[in-house]
Amino acid sequence: MRRSRLALPALALLLCAGLVWPTASSASPVTRHTAKKPTAVGRGGAVATVDPEATHAGLDVLRRGGNAVDAAVAAAATLGVTEPFSAGIGGGGYLVYYRARDRRVFTLDGRETAPAAMTATAFQENGKPIDFNEAVTSGLSVGVPGTLATWQRALDRWGTLSLKQALAPGRQVARRGFVVDTTFRQQILDNQARFADFTSTRSLYLPRGTVPAVGSVFRNPALARTYARLGARGPDWFYRGRLGERIVTTVRNPPVRPGSTRPVRKGRMRAGDLRAYRVIDRVPTSIGYRGLRVFGMAPSSSGGTTVGEALNILKRSPLSTLGRTQAMHRYLEASALAFADRNSYVGDPAFVPVPQRALLSDGFAAERSCAINPARAAVKPVPAGAPDGRYDTNCDGKVDTRTAGGDQEGLSTTHLVTADRFGNVVSYTLTIEQTGGSGIVVPGAGFLLNNELTDFNFAATVPQDPNLPAPGKRPRSSMSPTIVLKHGKPFLAVGSPGGSTIITTVLQVLVDRIDLGLTLPQAIADPRASQRNTATVQAEPAFVTAGLAALGHTFVPPPAPGEIGAAAGIEFLKNGRLLAAAEPVRRGGGSAGVVRRH
Ligand code: GLU
Repeated sequence: MRRSRLALPALALLLCAGLVWPTASSASPVTRHTAKKPTAVGRGGAVATVDPEATHAGLDVLRRGGNAVDAAVAAAATLGVTEPFSAGIGGGGYLVYYRARDRRVFTLDGRETAPAAMTATAFQENGKPIDFNEAVTSGLSVGVPGTLATWQRALDRWGTLSLKQALAPGRQVARRGFVVDTTFRQQILDNQARFADFTSTRSLYLPRGTVPAVGSVFRNPALARTYARLGARGPDWFYRGRLGERIVTTVRNPPVRPGSTRPVRKGRMRAGDLRAYRVIDRVPTSIGYRGLRVFGMAPSSSGGTTVGEALNILKRSPLSTLGRTQAMHRYLEASALAFADRNSYVGDPAFVPVPQRALLSDGFAAERSCAINPARAAVKPVPAGAPDGRYDTNCDGKVDTRTAGGDQEGLSTTHLVTADRFGNVVSYTLTIEQTGGSGIVVPGAGFLLNNELTDFNFAATVPQDPNLPAPGKRPRSSMSPTIVLKHGKPFLAVGSPGGSTIITTVLQVLVDRIDLGLTLPQAIADPRASQRNTATVQAEPAFVTAGLAALGHTFVPPPAPGEIGAAAGIEFLKNGRLLAAAEPVRRGGGSAGVVRRH
């Protein structure tokens, strides 16, 4: 493992001597970070997350000389403590990294995988899909977690800290406790019945049978111990050792409370599945948009291809001059078209042939854009297109042989972004799927297991469905961590939570910022709508206008909690200044910070 790329040799010495990095055992007055500021401008590095403790952890790492990758792992590990119902070592995610040294973008696919005993019909009974809610709270839906392996891989490839050092801030927060806010309490309330049905989850998140009060201090000593042991023993303890054995036992025999009447299906994970887990280094998706280059996450996530296809369609319209109604009309229509193609063609590329290059080609986008009528919303669902290399690019019903074959351009749940003083950038989305994941805490280990395998389709939804379960397969994700470059240098880094609305949130933020002249904080705050090729458009009430309704869009409010996407981003301003922006209101608001404010 490489550990030596610190800028200052003296600092490296101090680090080796353990004199600079705080450890969980260092005796210092307890400061809990609760102040939320959604926007910060400054220099020297920046962090934006949904949580002030996590943002503080990332900034602290940057101030002590760590880089953007070190800060991202430290912030993510802290989110595993303070945002445990969204993310943690029981889950998975996708990390996009811009390396300033050679201006290259890299990605890591740390998606959960199905165990070897998974079958195409695992979520069926008598030929019919099982009840979704039964799958949600079950051992059956737990995928082999990828988050810890992602952290280790990112640190090995690009970081300067050891895993122990990167886990230290999270470990400290777990041990000393953090202040419960309304979101944390509400997420337990929303999950109370199922959390109460597992002995381990009940004792951690419903202490003495009660939901922690807003303003109280919540401690997770079991997770602090887990982080300490992971720091000492490394990821092998999780993937090949005793912790792994406990995970397997928990998945196969969830610790259901005696007397519970909930039907809890057992999982099929074995120790060999954990041993076989690998993070995959992937080539990012890459498309050109209005002189910028947009990098995203390739399949197994559908984020990069779907955001990319929609942008390719949209760049055929001069959105900035059309006015908001037409711009948003085209955004909704392009999103529906891209979702139709996502649903038909995108799955784990190790299992299905994903026509990624064709989906991201300008020829295909040109043909797909013919389906947009400026005067009328199309009837949804729209059919998928044919990414076959033969495209009608002039909307005259004829294949245009000049452009057939696609373009030759390069190919390629909580969200956090970090940037360091060297110019490196991380855009990282991680999740345990549903808020609260499977609802099952690994006894004594302090973290929840994901229910990511519910992202598979339980039965075919389209012919040759690319997203059916299979042994070792990764369920299709919508996570869309994105980095946008201008002339080879970072311009924006952005991402969002929100299941399949992640794609539309990232797309809308990009259109708002790049085409419609909103600032990044305005784009993140903007009222949102999500058209995922369905008859109705989920929209926050402030998005809805008479003009859009007159074009034939039918709006419905998003499901509880009535909001779409608490995004986070960084914009790289002139003269080395950074604008870190987190969500101002949704999910109680996020936290943005910079290393130096001026
Ligand atoms: N499981 C979702 C995905 O991978 C993310 C979970 C969420 O954001 O709610 O797309």
